[in-house]
Amino acid sequence: MEKGNVLINVNDIIGKRLDKLEVISYVYSRYDHTKGGERIRHYYKCECECGNVKIIQRGQLVSEIVRSCGCARKKKLWQK
Ligand SMILES: [Zn+2]
Repeated sequence: MEKGNVLINVNDIIGKRLDKLEVISYVYSRYDHTKGGERIRHYYKCECECGNVKIIQRGQLVSEIVRSCGCARKKKLWQK
């Protein structure tokens, strides 16, 4: 039953723009096994500025770890 996770409104970031990514829709949630036990993770469909669509984990979106489909990161590596 309860696994210590607070239920959140998964739709609260729909339509948000996070740098190059736009959150299109909520896709699914699942429990992941981590060192600290089971944690629920929410996944979203995001569209990148370059047109790529990717499924990205909520935690990576809200903490801005992921801000593009990968195209920006590649660029930065070479741009300095
Ligand atoms: Zn991209």
